[in-house]
Amino acid sequence: MSNEHIPVSFEFFPPKTPAGKEKLAAVQEELALFQPEFYSVTYGAGGSTRDSTKGIVLSSINAGHDTAPHLSFGGDDEDTIKQLLQEYKDGGVKRLVALRGDMPSGMGGASQLVYANQLVAFIREHFGDHFHIEVAAYPEIHPEARSYKKDIEYLKGKFDAGANSAITQYFYNPDAYFYFADQCQAAGIEQPIVPGIMPIINYKNLARFSANCGAEIPRWMARRLEDFADDQESIISFGIDLVSDLCEMLLDNGAPGLHFYTMNQTQPTAQILTNLLASE
Ligand code: FAD
Repeated sequence: MSNEHIPVSFEFFPPKTPAGKEKLAAVQEELALFQPEFYSVTYGAGGSTRDSTKGIVLSSINAGHDTAPHLSFGGDDEDTIKQLLQEYKDGGVKRLVALRGDMPSGMGGASQLVYANQLVAFIREHFGDHFHIEVAAYPEIHPEARSYKKDIEYLKGKFDAGANSAITQYFYNPDAYFYFADQCQAAGIEQPIVPGIMPIINYKNLARFSANCGAEIPRWMARRLEDFADDQESIISFGIDLVSDLCEMLLDNGAPGLHFYTMNQTQPTAQILTNLLASE
């Protein structure tokens, strides 16, 4: 894998302060060295970051980076979402990440439409093929899914509605991804399913977030990270080695690319990619 170009994309969240925005612009410039396919910017549940997501997406596009807003109906009605999509189209957006968003604020608002497949169909109905549409996938299965099989059926529903590719929730069990990819293929899904990669920065936050979103932290890994307690340097160094190995295994075994949840930081994402590029 040495010296090849790795197909990567980088995800950011919209900062709340002017200092955070300035820092993000610098991070985006630094990560641009890895020639990402695109950047993406998250969208707060229920549309709470509508303006800040839009602001970051448009300034990032103006800085020359292909940037995709995340989007969900949340509590918004269809006209509001249509208008937002039109503003994105006018502002040069060519790619979207279409989601249901998290409950409870992600459901039951002014819109009758809720699920991500409905959002994908809505975008295709009103904007044709203008946008490349990414959707979410869950190798360890979405926490609210009725069954493994149903979750894959619903993912297929998102592709049938017109999605072009999927990005996964992060995971640390590569076998979960490979099994999932096989099951998706068996269900007739031919589109790329790109692993979402979460570098390890703050273990306490990661553990809390993982419990909510259904991403498993393997026991051995949790025990090792707990041992480091507040030794942040060791956590980060262990995390860089572990996630670099994970990424290498994924790419060597056919993953179509990597989508990094950067947490608006250049490191450790850049170090992981540097390790990958240096490895044989
Ligand atoms: P859906 O695909 O709609 O699925 C949601 C649940 O409903 C699943 O359990 C599924 O099995 C079930 N389901 C799907 N379709 C149907 C149907 N037609 N009938 C009955 N059940 C159905 N959240 C944010 O708030 N903002 C973000 O910016 C954001 N970005 C994300 C980016 C990525 C790459 C990923 C993986 C997740 C992201 N999330 C974000 C989290 C996401 O919004 C949550 O995981 C949410 O709970 C599900 O969204 P979804 O688009 O996968 O939903």
